Amino acid sequence: MRFLSLRRARSRLRKSTSTTGLFGRSYASVTDADLDFFRGVVGADHVKTSPEDLESFNTDWMKKYRGASPAAVLPSNTDQVSRLLRHCNERRIAVVPQGGNTGLVGGSVPAGRAGVGEVVLSTSRMKSVVSFDPLAGVLTCEAGCILENLDAYLAEQGFAMPLDLGAKGSCQIGGNISTNAGGLRLLRYGSLHGSVLGLEKK
Ligand SMILES: Cc1cc2nc3c(=O)[nH]c(=O)nc-3n(C[C@H](O)[C@H](O)[C@H](O)COP(=O)(O)OP(=O)(O)OC[C@H]3O[C@@H](n4cnc5c(N)ncnc54)[C@H](O)[C@@H]3O)c2cc1C
Repeated sequence: MRFLSLRRARSRLRKSTSTTGLFGRSYASVTDADLDFFRGVVGADHVKTSPEDLESFNTDWMKKYRGASPAAVLPSNTDQVSRLLRHCNERRIAVVPQGGNTGLVGGSVPAGRAGVGEVVLSTSRMKSVVSFDPLAGVLTCEAGCILENLDAYLAEQGFAMPLDLGAKGSCQIGGNISTNAGGLRLLRYGSLHGSVLGLEKK
């Protein structure tokens, strides 16, 4: 059995001229009917398809990697995420989640080439704090909350996020957890995954 690094596999997919996707799986191209479905779920304003609108979704913070996503979809809640992913799964459309897009290794940049690029599922609109229990010290929030905003919210109540890093003004808690981000408070509070009590997965 032969394994490819994710980076090499993505690079290979970007150069690919066939419809074969990552790890030998083939993915469907996004059609007008798919875009209509996305618009029906999240609203027309939250499905980005123009080259200008897609520019920031198709490249990373360092401008080192470049993708070719045909669409970025911005749901506002987990129910919408669920409906989008169910549709993409049934249609075999490749999807990449994107938070603040500050990752330094290209994980948030859509792989693929024009026509069969991954759809970007951006969590940027999912930025609500659901609850905070000061007795238990448990914060419940949506995936798109920006780390710095969460820290400021908690500071007002005498608490702090167990994570601090240079990209805190842009990175999102979903991306932080996905990457198990370290940073300035790692030695004091330990690995971020150790502070996560649960995730709502769709
Ligand atoms: C100036 C600067 C300083 C940094 N300092 C540090 C540091 O000290 N320590 C450190 O570890 N990193 C650091 N980073 C890297 C980066 O900020 C972290 O990896 C951060 O956790 C990424 O969060 P994000 O929201 O930007 O995620 P993205 O870059 O958007 O995504 C990162 C990965 O997570 C996935 N993802 C995003 N959201 C979700 C979700 N809701 N569900 C599932 N998967 C998801 C993406 O598909 C991608 O694979 C730094 C980056 C910069 C630019």
